[in-house]
Amino acid sequence: MHRPRASTTRPSRAEAILIVRAVRTSRTALPRRTPSRLANGITSVLIMCDGEGNLGDIDEKKRNEAVENHKKWVEAAKFLGCHSIRVNSHGEGSAEEVAKAATEGLRSLSTFAKDFNIGVIVENHGGYSSDGQWLTSVIKATESTNCGTLPDFGNFRVSRDEEYDRYKGVTEMMPYAKAVSAKTHDFDEQGNETHTDYRKMTKIVLDAGYHSFFGIEYEGELKFDQKNQILNLRISLLRDPHTDAKEPIGIAVYVRDLTRAKEYEKLKSDMISLMSHELRTPLTSINGFAELLTMEDGIPVSAREFVTIIANESQRMSRMINTFLAVTQLERKDKQEVLKIPLRLDEVVRETISAMQPFAKKKRIRLIEQPASRIPPVAADKSLITQAVKNLVNNAIRYSPERTTVTVSTALEAEAVRVCVEDRGFGIPAEAKERVWDKFYRVVREGQEKDEESTGLGLSFVREVVEQHGGQVELHSEEGRGSKFSFTLPRL
Ligand code: ADP
Repeated sequence: MHRPRASTTRPSRAEAILIVRAVRTSRTALPRRTPSRLANGITSVLIMCDGEGNLGDIDEKKRNEAVENHKKWVEAAKFLGCHSIRVNSHGEGSAEEVAKAATEGLRSLSTFAKDFNIGVIVENHGGYSSDGQWLTSVIKATESTNCGTLPDFGNFRVSRDEEYDRYKGVTEMMPYAKAVSAKTHDFDEQGNETHTDYRKMTKIVLDAGYHSFFGIEYEGELKFDQKNQILNLRISLLRDPHTDAKEPIGIAVYVRDLTRAKEYEKLKSDMISLMSHELRTPLTSINGFAELLTMEDGIPVSAREFVTIIANESQRMSRMINTFLAVTQLERKDKQEVLKIPLRLDEVVRETISAMQPFAKKKRIRLIEQPASRIPPVAADKSLITQAVKNLVNNAIRYSPERTTVTVSTALEAEAVRVCVEDRGFGIPAEAKERVWDKFYRVVREGQEKDEESTGLGLSFVREVVEQHGGQVELHSEEGRGSKFSFTLPRL
């Protein structure tokens, strides 16, 4: 039997009433509820607290405010017979700064909660908290036996381009777990969750000696295909805007019909796609005739110069339209629609490298493949994946100075194959890292001329392709030192 570190015995009804009385005389009033809610066969386990400030705020005053804001929920948890409250360890700053602040915030709240016999548990909720090692070291540092973790199977995104291994994360968090959350997103036709191997994950949880509650969560849009309807579901706490009281006055369940908005989005995307198609024909004529004119002997020098510009620019526009079409077409495809065959990524890398060698040589860049051994196949669309690898290699060459090296490697990582393109180039400034994957985003570098070939679509294409295949993209980069762009695809 799993023994959480804090006692999880639920208070008896009498205890609960006593606590409410104590609370009313000493602190702000709780919502007027009668303890009979504890009956009716319902067991309250924990309260999820959000929007009460950051317990990892590096500003001491704000952090203390957050601790204060959470206290009423400790009391409410006691009243309802819960064993814990779930909090967040969020803060803005370096990993070390936020870890130090979160340790203090959590320790302070846990000390308060201890008198109520209530646990304070932290969920991996994005950012540093999704790094298993970071979170467990914070929990350890609080030295509070009632402070623990709430591993959420589906929330290991440290940043937009960095995902922590969910099995490693849950394994690390389990020794401190007082509850677990089985988060689900997508299911395949057999009803299996597509992001988490539930058999493997459940084994990790049970092997850690946990035999208590599993929270089951689903996050996403509700689609009713028969009715052609899409709904957005949100549940939140309500506050009275006319008073300063911070206590919520109720719970709101918010259902929004997204059907029209989705139809509009589709219409917009269809229109852009149609326009791009329509633009191709006149562009081909403009380009063709401009090129013909450049071959004419009798035209004046200045006219030749202008016509050459028209030819080059129309070619560039046509390349942009092609890339844009490719991205919009992919966005509109369902994952199932991508034509997947067993594909060896090391072979794709080899072919791409040999096709890109002339371009690399032109810039005197050494383009090399790091030898890989025993790479299993993945299920993928060969032309899309090849184009994605090509985009990454092309960028690595374009955004590196002459006489540097670009290395492409393929490696097996647990259940996925990773392709990594590493350069010793200009690197990406920290503030741009989140955005380089966005459509049309380009990094502006001082002293660097505008690259005629740049569309800001290359990386968004890579991300779209990789995600369509159930994989993830990642970026590590240091300005002035180089970048490491990589992606994973699930192995077969
Ligand atoms: P494009 O290269 O067509 O502008 P991308 O979407 O491929 O569009 O890239 C977006 C931006 O990211 C580029 O403008 C470039 O500044 C930056 N970038 C991409 N790859 C690299 C790299 N390997 N090194 C440095 N900067 C890069």
